[in-house]
Amino acid sequence: MVWRLGVLRNEGKATPAQISMAKRNNVYESIKICRESRQILGGMGITDEYSIMRHMMNLESVITYEGTHDIHLLITGMDITGLNAFK
Ligand SMILES: Cc1cc2nc3c(=O)[nH]c(=O)nc-3n(C[C@H](O)[C@H](O)[C@H](O)COP(=O)(O)OP(=O)(O)OC[C@H]3O[C@@H](n4cnc5c(N)ncnc54)[C@H](O)[C@@H]3O)c2cc1C
Repeated sequence: MVWRLGVLRNEGKATPAQISMAKRNNVYESIKICRESRQILGGMGITDEYSIMRHMMNLESVITYEGTHDIHLLITGMDITGLNAFK
């Protein structure tokens, strides 16, 4: 998705709704990878010996800023269906 969005952006064709969908998906997948990595490390994963919890906390912030997870879903939904569910 990101590669395709990059191509569209270079061509001046990327839409705000496509960027919304990519931001939401990137952050969601990244935090899933962090959680999986934390579990692979077991109990050591919650210590500061490894930086995985720091990445998780950073990503929790990114879920909120530059458009929250929920709001990007509403934007994507409106782009696909034409229906405004913001209200
Ligand atoms: C680390 C960090 C850095 C930031 N940096 C900046 C910055 O540089 N510049 C700037 O302007 N702002 C910045 N922000 C603010 C950020 O943009 C807002 O926190 C964000 O837009 C959410 O707004 P809010 O905090 O008022 O939450 P609210 O709007 O009160 O939302 C609370 C929750 O309700 C959900 N929600 C809200 N409305 C709906 C709806 N209609 N339907 C369903 N769910 C809904 C949201 O998704 C969220 O989960 C930053 C925030 C953080 C955490």
